[in-house]
Amino acid sequence: MPSITPVRGDITQQDVDAVVDAANNGMRGGGGVDGAIHRAGGRAVLDDCIQRFPGGLATGDAGWTTAGQLPARWVIHTVGPDLRAGEHDPGLLEACYRRSLEVADELGARAVAFPLVSAGAYGWPLREAALTAAYTVAITRTDVTDVRLVAFDDDAWESMRFAVMCLT
Ligand code: ADP
Repeated sequence: MPSITPVRGDITQQDVDAVVDAANNGMRGGGGVDGAIHRAGGRAVLDDCIQRFPGGLATGDAGWTTAGQLPARWVIHTVGPDLRAGEHDPGLLEACYRRSLEVADELGARAVAFPLVSAGAYGWPLREAALTAAYTVAITRTDVTDVRLVAFDDDAWESMRFAVMCLT
């Protein structure tokens, strides 16, 4: 099991091998984490998305691109379920973490930073999103050694810390 550390901050600043993007099915950029990653990573991220994901990406799946100008080497894009659009299957949210770790293994990434997938515009309750993140990472077989769960604000930070505490 990798070490799982809650971190308070901006995912685009994380000094890791790969940062995970809470993307959307279209894979052409959006708001929240996705917008921040595309802004900070630069045009190379979008160009790679267009080239690698001409038909977009399915909910629960993950795939990688360059990280452009980010400190990380890769962006692993995953598409969380949109609760506001009626996608309330927690299995899809678990799949985001599992698939992202599989992609990280394909890349040989050892340190990976995740945001709270689906907990923003997609409306997943923070605590449930954080618990899903923590336990799915904990039970997934992976060569990743260092997982950071990045919280952007106070509420996310509380939820992340609670979720990681529940693992022990
Ligand atoms: P989704 O559409 O999957 O809900 P969002 O990007 O809207 O994704 O939000 C996911 C979570 O990421 C939210 O908790 C949001 O506050 C947080 N977030 C937004 N920007 C950043 C950032 N730059 N770094 C880390 N987390 C962020």
